[in-house]
Amino acid sequence: MKKRLTPRIRQMLEDSLREFPELEGKTVTVGYTRSYLGTAFVPAEVETRASMGIRLRARNLVYNTIGHELTHLVQGLGHVSLKRAVAPLSKIPGGEKQCDIWTLARSALFCDDAPTYLRLPRVVRENWPRYAEAIRFLCIAAIEKRRTHRFYIQWLERQIRLIARGLTPEVDLSR
Ligand SMILES: [Zn+2]
Repeated sequence: MKKRLTPRIRQMLEDSLREFPELEGKTVTVGYTRSYLGTAFVPAEVETRASMGIRLRARNLVYNTIGHELTHLVQGLGHVSLKRAVAPLSKIPGGEKQCDIWTLARSALFCDDAPTYLRLPRVVRENWPRYAEAIRFLCIAAIEKRRTHRFYIQWLERQIRLIARGLTPEVDLSR
């Protein structure tokens, strides 16, 4: 779909890309989609030189969606590198929940709306701004936890349930 990016979306993309030094110097094409909030595509092999890119739904676009799709590109880059047996550019594991976790952890910019795949209690989803900062810190803690804890995603979702019930999570959020 050939359609100019609106100034608002262009600005949002520039703000978002600043948070992704891994993508610096790389060409990221941007298009629109109507069917999804967003999608990301990466070439299967680095050598093809096909461009990687994202497609976004323009209506009600939030930074969280842009961040999520850009994180997919970084996940994809890591994958491409691994296939070529060179040092991975990224250590972000594949998967949608992983993508949500690393997106929220990366920057407060991407906490403007609730993530799509992470399991959130209804009270959290409906009152996202109230919980956003705490959940961002829990995501950062979960990434740390992953080094020693295989089930860090379950751990994270359990912590989110705790704060949703007004209880104290197993990690100090007051840092
Ligand atoms: Zn995704």
